[in-house]
Amino acid sequence: MPAMMSPLTRIRVVLVEPTHPGNIGAAARAMKTMGLRSLALVRPHEFPCATATAMAAGADDLLVRAQVTDSLQAALGGCGWVIGTSARTRTIPWPVHDPREAAARALAMAEEAEIAVVFGREHAGLTNDELELCQAVVQIPSDPHFSSLNLGAAVQVLAYELRMQWLARQQSAAVATVNDAPPATSDDMARLYAHLEETMIETGFLDPAKPRRLMRRVRRLFNRAGLDRNEVNIIRGFLTAVRGKRGDGRGGTADQT
Ligand code: SAH
Repeated sequence: MPAMMSPLTRIRVVLVEPTHPGNIGAAARAMKTMGLRSLALVRPHEFPCATATAMAAGADDLLVRAQVTDSLQAALGGCGWVIGTSARTRTIPWPVHDPREAAARALAMAEEAEIAVVFGREHAGLTNDELELCQAVVQIPSDPHFSSLNLGAAVQVLAYELRMQWLARQQSAAVATVNDAPPATSDDMARLYAHLEETMIETGFLDPAKPRRLMRRVRRLFNRAGLDRNEVNIIRGFLTAVRGKRGDGRGGTADQT
């Protein structure tokens, strides 16, 4: 089943001693909307609970399958990389990452290993002992004067970044398969620019006496696009057709500006 093959399913969300069952439900909903499936709860205050189910709003299958453990260590079983999250810039001896870079690394690692993202208690976050079980600490760059997000909201931010990374990876894989022509070489590009410049002059679009920065801008545009050989041939074919048409009696020389 393709959904189960997604590396997102190898990323586990761990909530440590959540106090409000509503937040457990909100976290499940946040996860399911972003394609995450695996939830672990360390000593939840109250669970299972009707409030959690109501707040999950259809993501209660994640609650049913949630793993409930007595210790964070047990919830991290089998994980190859563990990210802790914290609202506070304590004098942390851990490297602090933002959600985006952590998500990129998590997705890369989830190809091979189980990953955990750990969230702390509503009132007190994670203890230093718990952070010591993490390889990296992530801080959502919130306003330093009001830095603490609701637990469910923090799960949503991380889940969203993980999904965006997953989508980006899928897209680059798709581009790699569609783009089967070899990339254009610098010689191909030099010939394309010469061809473009000649055609622009010939059609009167570019005045060689006043070139301004047009060709530089055109180069910048094509460099950004990263053309392959087929694409260069399409543009050059078009330029040849334009010049042929003009040669076929439409007249016009390069002297107009
Ligand atoms: N007063 C607590 C805040 C806890 S908020 C503290 O000082 O840490 C509950 C949990 O939500 C946090 O433990 C963390 O997992 C997550 N969280 C909230 N705001 C966050 C932020 N800005 N960056 C990263 N995680 C955050």
